[in-house]
Amino acid sequence: MRRPEKLVLATQNPGKIRELRDLLAPCGIEVVTAPALSLAEPEETEDSFAGNARIKAHAAARASGLPALSDDSGLEVDALDGAPGVRTADWAETPAGRDFPMAMRRVHDLVKSQPEPWRARFRCTLCLAWPDGTDEIFEGAVEGRVVWPMRGENGFGFDPIFVPDGDDRTFAEMSPEEKHAIDHRARAFEHLVRRL
Ligand code: IMP
Repeated sequence: MRRPEKLVLATQNPGKIRELRDLLAPCGIEVVTAPALSLAEPEETEDSFAGNARIKAHAAARASGLPALSDDSGLEVDALDGAPGVRTADWAETPAGRDFPMAMRRVHDLVKSQPEPWRARFRCTLCLAWPDGTDEIFEGAVEGRVVWPMRGENGFGFDPIFVPDGDDRTFAEMSPEEKHAIDHRARAFEHLVRRL
């Protein structure tokens, strides 16, 4: 596989940008972001993480002429048959922007009548796409459970209600370094780094 010297992070999500920058830092690859290049965010019309990751990475690679790295991720809750899954970001959508406390409350309202533990996992699919239309996909997951109430101030998205196996703290109660050592994005990233 070719090794990019410079790549575009094909996401507008500040939480993902922060994590992907941290993960890329040791690789010595120059990073620019989609917002910095004023790239439009394409619609995610596929029903799989890989499908949507491809849409985002290819759109950014085509528009910028640079290799692009996208991340499509989400939370799967067993008691909800895998929802919110590929629609995780949509669950937080409101006319006034994304409201994650509302989305987490919604998850809890739907699982609270079911016996604990509420098994769940975060999944992450990374797509590295090249301006010539080729790509590679890398996947990672972290198993755990949904807890209530929300705990912690760190991280982003659904971190305050997710406790990974082997710990009692939510992702939002961990330092970025602790989260990055075990999370779904870091695991997908390990596969990418091995290929580079
Ligand atoms: P998408 O990949 O843009 O469709 O959005 C995925 C959504 O999943 C994000 O907006 C977050 O709400 C959620 N998500 C993905 N990764 C994480 C994570 O590491 N912590 C918390 N929430 C996450």
